[in-house]
Amino acid sequence: MAKYVVLLGSPGAGKGTQADILTKETGLAHISTGDLFREHIAQKTELGILAQSLMDKGEFVPDDLTIAMVKERISRADCEQGVILDGFPRNPVQADATKLMLNAMGSSVSVVPYIIVPEDVLIQRLSGRWTCRNSGHVYHTMFSPPEKEGICDLCGAELYQRVDDTVETVKKRLRIYMERTSPLIDYYRKQGKLVEIEGDQPIDSVTKDLLATLKK
Ligand code: ADP
Ligand code: ADP
Repeated sequence: MAKYVVLLGSPGAGKGTQADILTKETGLAHISTGDLFREHIAQKTELGILAQSLMDKGEFVPDDLTIAMVKERISRADCEQGVILDGFPRNPVQADATKLMLNAMGSSVSVVPYIIVPEDVLIQRLSGRWTCRNSGHVYHTMFSPPEKEGICDLCGAELYQRVDDTVETVKKRLRIYMERTSPLIDYYRKQGKLVEIEGDQPIDSVTKDLLATLKK
């Protein structure tokens, strides 16, 4: 049976980093709404142009557009075994839409690992995050530096710092997360699907805990 994993956690908790590793280990597809929007921005689509002005300010892209984008992505062949949702759902409306979407496919959310990291660590992580323009792979100046400064180990493309990773916008995103996304913690806890994961550990230790949770 297909597995549908919702990775919960603040911006900077390590969702993208872990989802990339877990995809390789499990064969599940990785759907990151942030990455999908950044692809639209790079391709200058209508959605990309709209998303960019909101994302740069740390604000959400409207629910209807986000939900439609995920619906299309999750119906593709590489999602047959299941997916890891990263950055979606991000509020109760999107969580209800996820339920409907999966029910229509004869399925439901399997498990919700919630990666917990203290706020000072989140700010330190986001302010040192460098992202590959081509592969979207993330690095950190201190915690997981690339072999060659400014260059992606995987594809050799240039690394950049996201406009929304400045301290001011990071603080706003953390506030919005608390207001709009954190209600999902209780939403999934009530359904018995939430599993708390200690996120303030080295990357490979977090992966180990996540893999143990996914195997259950
Ligand atoms: P998210 O997708 O939740 O916003 P990322 O995976 O992009 O988080 O990680 C944010 C930053 O923190 C990146 O620079 C990444 O390299 C770094 N990072 C991720 N996990 C860890 C960890 N366990 N320890 C130290 N740094 C980490
Ligand atoms: P992070 O991993 O640091 O939380 P993301 O890459 O997930 O950042 O998201 C970057 C931005 O993309 C968000 O601040 C928001 O503007 C937009 N975004 C991503 N996912 C969603 C979503 N599910 N709903 C609305 N906006 C989203």
